[in-house]
Amino acid sequence: MSMGERPPSVETRTHTALHVLKGAVQRVLGARWTASVYVKGSHGRLTVRYHRRPTPEEMERVEEEANRKIEEDAPVEELEMTREEAEARWGDAIYDLFPLPPSVRRVRILHIRDWSVNACRETHTRTTGEIGGIRVRRFRYRPSRELLEISFDVVDA
Ligand SMILES: [Zn+2]
Repeated sequence: MSMGERPPSVETRTHTALHVLKGAVQRVLGARWTASVYVKGSHGRLTVRYHRRPTPEEMERVEEEANRKIEEDAPVEELEMTREEAEARWGDAIYDLFPLPPSVRRVRILHIRDWSVNACRETHTRTTGEIGGIRVRRFRYRPSRELLEISFDVVDA
């Protein structure tokens, strides 16, 4: 953070943590599709489509990988482009299970290089390091809907 800039709000840190966590979930578990997200203060919840209950060890690795990315202090890029440009570059990786209306022609893209990409209009931290850290508090798997819910808190570094 440069001088004179305000530190990000806790909600901004928690929201950005969702993207970092998603990258870790993709890497460790191979889960691709976000079903829903929730942010309140320092608490967040990421729900992804997944075909089985992950082991506690896998979820520990998810937390480790997410925090490794935070420690890297990687740039968090926000890009704006047409939907066609974004799809040509990243395909349907920019989308979630909840659809973007066809009327949306320009998209803002959240991009953490080699980690996570998503169409997203929220506010983000400038780097992953500004998140501080992620603690996975619990996870719940709902086999009937093939949904994995991961509850976490952002913590100060
Ligand atoms: Zn976002």
